[in-house]
Amino acid sequence: MLQQNLPVDDMIACHSCDLLHQRTALVEGEKAWCSRCGSLLYRTSNNTIEMALALTIASLLLFLFAQLLPFLSINVEGNKTTIYLVSTIDTLSQLDNLLLGIAGALFLVVIPLGVLLLDLLLLGALYSNTRPLTQFARQLLLLIGRLAPWNMLEIFLLGVLVTIVKLASIAEISLHQGFWAFVALVMINLFVSTTLEPEELWQAIDKH
Ligand SMILES: [Zn+2]
Repeated sequence: MLQQNLPVDDMIACHSCDLLHQRTALVEGEKAWCSRCGSLLYRTSNNTIEMALALTIASLLLFLFAQLLPFLSINVEGNKTTIYLVSTIDTLSQLDNLLLGIAGALFLVVIPLGVLLLDLLLLGALYSNTRPLTQFARQLLLLIGRLAPWNMLEIFLLGVLVTIVKLASIAEISLHQGFWAFVALVMINLFVSTTLEPEELWQAIDKH
């Protein structure tokens, strides 16, 4: 049972069911689970920041490759067009719809790149223990959390896959390096969102 006089810092709420638990020290590799619903509460891991930083750098490189390398080619009766991811924004604007172009630029470039750069800033500061920056770590993590739902890369990839399937019967489609870089980027995004617990980042911030 909870005791009224425990300091708040020693308490942790389950992300799934909100049950409060008292933090206990764990040995390396151990994990703490919610006693009611069995969700992971926290674990000891010394390399969370290193792993997240490495994945962020890899994501930034893949993001650049996906934007700048040829994405796919469409061949309709010998008429071949090569598409770049960046040019889709231009195409959206040319459809006489500036709003669509702006939305495309925001969801495909500005927000994903912004989130990656903020991740790099936060994780870089925590990793290198850069003093003035670590003081803003909480605000940075909150900002990243607010922007994350607007990161629409997975949805765009689904849209591209549906389009490829639809076009396959009338055109010959070749996928290029940009496409595969984009797929790898989305895979890393999914990996990070399923394996990295936000609680681990909060713990790392608390240590600074
Ligand atoms: Zn729970």
